[in-house]
Amino acid sequence: MSQNGKLSRFWIQELTRPAFEDWLENELEPVVIIGIGAIEQHGLHLPLGTDSLGCLEFIHEVASRTNSVCIHPCWPGFSPHHMSFPGTVTFSSETLLGVLMDTVGSFAHHGVKRFILVNHHGGNTQTMNLAAQLAKREYNVMIAAPEGPKETELAKKIQERVQRFLEVHSGPRETAYALHYFPELCEMWRLDDWESGVILSDRLREFMDPDREDYELVSQVFDACLGPNTEDTTRNGQYATTDPRTADPKEAEASMEEAVQFMVDFIELWKSIPVPKCFLD
Ligand SMILES: [Zn+2]
Repeated sequence: MSQNGKLSRFWIQELTRPAFEDWLENELEPVVIIGIGAIEQHGLHLPLGTDSLGCLEFIHEVASRTNSVCIHPCWPGFSPHHMSFPGTVTFSSETLLGVLMDTVGSFAHHGVKRFILVNHHGGNTQTMNLAAQLAKREYNVMIAAPEGPKETELAKKIQERVQRFLEVHSGPRETAYALHYFPELCEMWRLDDWESGVILSDRLREFMDPDREDYELVSQVFDACLGPNTEDTTRNGQYATTDPRTADPKEAEASMEEAVQFMVDFIELWKSIPVPKCFLD
């Protein structure tokens, strides 16, 4: 529904054509939020759709606070590195790029000028950024992929654990996010015999120390030494040397609220600036 430009439903697939038209005509600065994630193995305890499921919750919340339309155009993302583990469904980067371009192109065709891209899967980042660059040029639209906040106490605390314990995939950080958003899909009992599956040489482990003075250098050498596939780094599909059973869903709730609020602030500020001349048809 939409009345005088005010939406009461935010998913594109739930709007009628007149509702969408009402929003487009009467919302002063219409914003479309496009969310992507992944269908890929998430260790033993998290659902294959973890990244997409969380992204749905996140973009819907942002859309509802900013009177935006949201769309999740595909469930899989770019996950070739997880293909040794069953259940992973990967698109090629070309397919993902095509999905993003066609999604932006369709809305642009009907007059939308402002797009937000939200990505909840690290493997998609480069493709998403390329799509943002190409779509801006191809469709003459404003397109942003805001990320933040990075400087809050909580954000810094979590980032420190990412650096020190490699909490990038299926570790406590992501488990907390899953337990916050969809606890009914998490199978924590599968972790009864948990042990770290991370395979890294002692030399590389020494580089996982953000307190080192040369951390900027060694962390980049560390990245350069990581194999292309998940099984090169971890036996059980879980990055992170820390026990996912220590996950704190309250922490994820607070962290997601910070991220939602940042996105809302971004959209509100952005909408206060009229579409620059160069984007007008
Ligand atoms: Zn994930």
